Amino acid sequence: MGKVPTRLVSWEDIVEWSRGLAIKVRESNYKPDVIIAVARGGFVPARLLCDFLNVENLISIQSQHWTEAAKAAEKAIIKFAYELDLSGKKALLVDDIVDTGESLILARDFILKHWKPAELRIATLQWISPVAKLKPDYYYIEVTEWIWFQYPWTRLEDTFQFMKRMISEEGKHKKVWSYDELVGKFLEWYEIDVGEKYFREAIRLLIEEGILELHDDMYYYRG
Ligand code: AMP
Repeated sequence: MGKVPTRLVSWEDIVEWSRGLAIKVRESNYKPDVIIAVARGGFVPARLLCDFLNVENLISIQSQHWTEAAKAAEKAIIKFAYELDLSGKKALLVDDIVDTGESLILARDFILKHWKPAELRIATLQWISPVAKLKPDYYYIEVTEWIWFQYPWTRLEDTFQFMKRMISEEGKHKKVWSYDELVGKFLEWYEIDVGEKYFREAIRLLIEEGILELHDDMYYYRG
């Protein structure tokens, strides 16, 4: 996969969206005893929901589907499956976004079967309605056209993977890059500016992986 439509999401957006989501939960009169974060994308929203909803109990389940930015793995799996007794408890399962919905469906089914809460509802910041196999009970933003949201907690991971794809594609005809050329091409491809700190970190990872080599301030594609 090459160029993908991408939007940069800021920390401020996340706080605002989480607050908006919390208001929806509160207004529905659902008072969870426990919040369950879907690792890893649900961690920050779940923690913020604990704050906005005044919930003390926060636990986690790792359900993984996408292994790298904008590239889905074959299927979702529950990692580190453990037993827990949530009987009598109202739970709120929280994630960043429902895209295919595979990882949330898997997490929901696992929790209902093994942890047996009295009630389980699902809240996500975003819901990609045309592609999702699941509609969360609460969502803050409905997305009607697929896009990759570049969340602040995957900024380096995404920048690295996007840059890797860009270089391997462009590397067919361009082997030597300056820092400014790499950043310029990235901006042209993805139209998001992650800032110099993240560009430099991503380039450092590309060097570590042997994809780029640095000589006299120029980066050589070694793909
Ligand atoms: P899914 O199982 O397809 O609903 O997605 C699983 C996880 O992958 C989500 O909780 C996100 O952390 C990540 N993800 C999937 N699609 C996107 C997207 N369009 N933008 C940002 N992150 C995404």
